[in-house]
This record gives sequence, C-alpha cells and structure tokens, in this order.
Amino acid sequence: MANIRMMEPTPFDVETGILVIGAGAGGLVTALRARAAGAEVLVLERDPLPRGSTALSAGLIPAAGTRFQAASGIKDSQAGFAADIRRKAKDKGDPRRVEMAVNAIGPALEWLADAHGLPFSVIDNFTYPGHSAYRMHGLPSRSGAELMDHLREAAERAGVDIVTEARAETLLVERGGNRILGVEIVRPDGTRDQVGCHALVLACNGYGGNRALVAEHIPGLKDALYFGHPGNQGEAVLWGRQLGAQLVDLSGHQGHGSVAEPHGILLTWATMTEGGFQVNIRGERFSDESRGYSEQAAAVLAQPERLAYSFFDTRIAAIARQFEDFRNIEAAGALIEAPDLAALARRLGLPETALAATAAAIDEARRTGTPDALGRIWTETKPLAAPFCAVKITGALFHTQGGLGIDAEARVLAEDGTRLANLFAVGGAAAGVSGPEASGYLSGNGLLTAVAFGYLAGDAASRLAL
Ligand SMILES: Cc1cc2nc3c(=O)[nH]c(=O)nc-3n(C[C@H](O)[C@H](O)[C@H](O)COP(=O)(O)OP(=O)(O)OC[C@H]3O[C@@H](n4cnc5c(N)ncnc54)[C@H](O)[C@@H]3O)c2cc1C
Repeated sequence: MANIRMMEPTPFDVETGILVIGAGAGGLVTALRARAAGAEVLVLERDPLPRGSTALSAGLIPAAGTRFQAASGIKDSQAGFAADIRRKAKDKGDPRRVEMAVNAIGPALEWLADAHGLPFSVIDNFTYPGHSAYRMHGLPSRSGAELMDHLREAAERAGVDIVTEARAETLLVERGGNRILGVEIVRPDGTRDQVGCHALVLACNGYGGNRALVAEHIPGLKDALYFGHPGNQGEAVLWGRQLGAQLVDLSGHQGHGSVAEPHGILLTWATMTEGGFQVNIRGERFSDESRGYSEQAAAVLAQPERLAYSFFDTRIAAIARQFEDFRNIEAAGALIEAPDLAALARRLGLPETALAATAAAIDEARRTGTPDALGRIWTETKPLAAPFCAVKITGALFHTQGGLGIDAEARVLAEDGTRLANLFAVGGAAAGVSGPEASGYLSGNGLLTAVAFGYLAGDAASRLAL
C-alpha cells in the first residue's frame, strides 16, 4: 500500500528535520551526510533489522580516481568511468545523472572511510564486464552485509535515529501543492503513527519485490526468481505516480544469469570473465557471456528447464573464493569438480559429445583469434585447464533500475521538469544510470546510485531542514 493524503499543515507529535524512508545503503549514507551537516535525521525501516538489498549484495561500489586506487597503483579517470557507463547503456541513460554519480562517488567513499572508518580496498585481480579499469571498491569480506554493519554502526555513533518495524504507508501532502508535511507509518501490530518533516528522502529502493509492477514493466522476468529484498515493493514509484513525478526508465533492471540452483547463492561472474562459459542441458552454449551478467538472466531463462551450467577451472575458483558467496557455494556442495570434461559431463548428466564439441569450438576460436559463433573473443583469457569445475545455475531478477526523475541534488522532479517542494530520491527509488534495458546495467550501477545520490541528497536536504 502506498497512499497520498492531502491535508492542511498541522503540528505533529513527532517531528524531524529530515525523514528518510528505508535504511539500506542509500538511506544510511543520506542520513550520515545530513547528520554531518548538523541536521536532525530520522530513518524509517520496515524490517526489525536494517538490511535491504544492500546486505544481499557483494557490497562492491565502483569509483574512479580514488586514493584507494592510487594506493594500488591503478590509473583511472572519472571521464573513463562515465564513458564505460554510457557505452554499456548504449547511450540510453541520462548523461547528467551519470556525471552526477561518477563525480560524487569517489568523494563519498573517501568520506565514509575518513569520517566513519569504512576500510575500502579495490579488487585488482579481475575486471567486471564493461569496466576499463580496476575500480570496484569493497570491504574486506566483499559482502554487502559487512557494508550494512559498518553503515548501521556509523549511524548509531552519529546519532541518527533509526525506527525499525515502521513501514511508511501514506505520504501526508500539503493541500493544493506537493510539499510533504510528514509520513504515516504502520507497525506490525497495525498501530499507526505520524511523523512530520521538513524534507523527505525516499530510499526504499525499487519494485523488484512487487510482482504486479514487474509484470507491467519487465514482462520477460515476471516469473523469474527475485533475488533482492522482499521489502522492495515499489512505493517510490507508486507515490511518485500520484504526485505527478517524472518516472524514468522503469523497464531498466539488473538481472543475473548466474545463481546456483537450487541453492539460491550468487555465483560470481568472475567465473565467466576469467575464461569460463555456460552451456544449457544439451551441452550447448547459447550466448556471449562476455557481454555481462544482467542480460544473461533472460538468456538463461529462455533455455530448456530454465537452467544452465557454468564451467570454469580451479585457477578461476581460487579467484572466486575471495567472495563469501563462492565459499558458501562450495560449502553447500553446489560446486562439482572432475579431472576432465568428460567425467564432469557424466557427473552433471550432460551429453559428453556435445560438451566436447562446445569446448573444441572455444579452443578453435582462441587459436584463430576470431570471434566464435556467438561473437565472444577468447584471446584475452587463459584456456581452462584440468581439473574442471561446474555449477548448475538459473537466471534471476536482482533489482530494478528505473525510478523517480531527480535533479543534480537528488531532488524529485515533476513531469513538467520543475522540482517538487521537499522530496528527494536516492538509490533504487531514483532513476538510475543504466537506461531502459537489462543490458544497460554495468556492474556496480546499483550501489553507485545508492551511495552517490545519498551523499548528494544528505547535503541538499540538510540545507532545507536546518
Ligand atoms: C544479490 C544481489 C547482489 C548485488 N550486488 C551488487 C554489487 O556488488 N554492487 C552493486 O552496486 N549493486 C549490487 N546489487 C544491487 C544493490 O544491492 C542495490 O542497487 C542497492 O543495495 C540499493 O540500495 P538502496 O539503499 O536503494 O536499497 P535497499 O538496500 O534495498 O534498502 C531499502 C530499504 O528500504 C526499506 N523499505 C522499503 N520500503 C519501505 C517502506 N515503505 N517503509 C520503510 N522501509 C521501507 C527496505 O526494507 C530496505 O531496508 C546487488 C543486488 C542483489 C539483490
């Protein structure tokens, strides 16, 4: 439920300067930044413990020109990063939002490290598809749960009030205008409270958990496994519609063509970028894995039984093992290893001859240096070497990338391009930088707009609230 109620301005029992809906990365970075500016901040979170999709993620955030890159001797530029985002989205994303995100994210990460002690480092042993430099910044365990632990603890230290088990349901809007006066929340026992505010920040992510909205905007994934947080119910879009806000690129999303089946654990795409490949149950490849994992979700789901197998080797497994998810895949017994491909095919129940032909076609493409029949170029990766590994996988929807149109301060725009009076949107609630297609998602675009837009919104909202 996402309602709007028009009303006359009135004093509320509880009032705050900045009210933030959602305590994921976007909401907590907004809150931390606003607190640093001296604003009073209250965050509403529907869950008993703030986690969001952020805690489900690998917590990897791309940024260019940071001191963390410099410490690892990595040369990169914001212009190069912006060009990579635009290229992946085939120039269909808004260049203004790209610039805004790319310029803000480096300072945001350095500030989180300096002011709140987040120990970022850069992954420098493999690149994600579409990134022209090592620029994925993560915390030691490379997990979003660790990112959330750090942000939550920082928020507590900074005096940010986080009210949990408080689902925002109704925006209270000044009659005759669009100024948000406050929000009505619902508690698990059905009781309701109202909180007044000077500025409202929507940080409640997108609509991946709302089947009806997914069917409306991403029909190809309407029956796909949803791998994000179930609380991402699309209220930002639903409230935005009622307020006459711009709704941008709603079909944009991050899919993922590499979730261990039936275990439901993410298998890192490094398994593909380092030289692995995927086959269907017939032992045949079906798309160019080097394009990226987002568009691969629909490609996998189009295969017989909606399944595929990711093949790689123990060298690649050693790289993947830095991720907690990969270690969990091994612990769950989802990783199958064998001394040669024929033995692996037998263990997986795949046709040996077809798999051998698939491997031979890859060897031939590598030998000749020409793209294979699906367009993948193999000369940039090492050949797989025995022993070999495989994981049974399926495709999933991770999160949506479309959302509310915002200006350079993350303030929500109306359809006519003017600003709404005091409403902001960050992370998955705001329109992202990926354009309208799954293939437009460049790795890291999700947390990029959560952290960068949160950093900008915290500053701008505090100017309204002080
Ligand atoms: C498995 C997986 C892996 C990923 N890996 C990466 C990665 O490595 N790098 C990357 O950049 N992106 C990644 N992403 C995407 C990334 O997780 C999201 O883009 C990002 O976390 C969005 O942050 P957010 O703050 O907008 O939303 P969230 O983290 O989802 O936070 C939103 C919060 O709002 C709360 N909420 C929602 N509605 C209400 C309401 N009405 N009232 C109160 N509270 C509400 C929710 O409970 C939630 O806590 C991944 C996503 C998934 C699912």
